[in-house]
Amino acid sequence: MAALELKNIMKTFGPNQVIHGINLSIADGEFVVFVGPSGCGKSTLLRMIAGLEEISGGQLSIGGRVANGLSPKERNIAMVFQSYALYPQMTVAENMAFSLMLEKRPKTEIKTKVEAAASTLKLTELLDRRPSQLSGGQRQRVAIGRAIVRNPQVFLLDEPLSNLDAALRSETRVELSELHHRLGTTMVYVTHDQVEAMTMADKIVVLNGGRIEQVGTPMELYNCPLNTFVAGFIGSPK
Ligand code: ADP
Ligand code: MG
Repeated sequence: MAALELKNIMKTFGPNQVIHGINLSIADGEFVVFVGPSGCGKSTLLRMIAGLEEISGGQLSIGGRVANGLSPKERNIAMVFQSYALYPQMTVAENMAFSLMLEKRPKTEIKTKVEAAASTLKLTELLDRRPSQLSGGQRQRVAIGRAIVRNPQVFLLDEPLSNLDAALRSETRVELSELHHRLGTTMVYVTHDQVEAMTMADKIVVLNGGRIEQVGTPMELYNCPLNTFVAGFIGSPK
């Protein structure tokens, strides 16, 4: 069964249609990367999957269940944003625990989950620090930690590395790939960076003007781009 199934998904803002009938199946555990130029609809698509934006047409299924009308909470999906606003007055541990505390989960359960996520993300030594005492990469890991404690079926990551400098970006890229292997969770990752797409993806979805140009593995897209847009975007030698 597909983790996510998009059937003819559309999005209209007032008179403007920005997503034009997307069909896509994402398997359980797959690492899928959406690439495409700025404004092509990557974030809108992710926000519709997360339930943060209403779907104008078509059908979204999550784990085999039609999800169009479900609230974000009912979707078992976690989203990590580009600008990861942590609560500055809280410690790393409190930031990670926050959403579970809001739900009034038992203290022992919260502690166990935060400690497990911290260990996965190599944040154990930093649990008592505040965001101002962390590097950009460490803050990004806390943002991911806030999502991990919820044990989501699907992670949506919207350009999570774009605020990091080049060195930290490549380091965090490797960490994210390792994290995916360890958790085995389905991940949908948005970027406009070709290198990120080529190195991280099981499957790349190339978007342009709210439509899919091509779907395939990095090597398929590199070796057999369907058109010059894909070739240009992926950097194929033709
Ligand atoms: P990307 O993430 O690929 O850069 P977006 O999904 O942010 O692209 O935007 C896709 C298109 O939808 C753009 O033309 C953008 O201007 C438009 N758009 C996004 N959000 C809104 C909104 N809330 N209201 C109106 N138009 C929007
Ligand atoms: Mg975007």
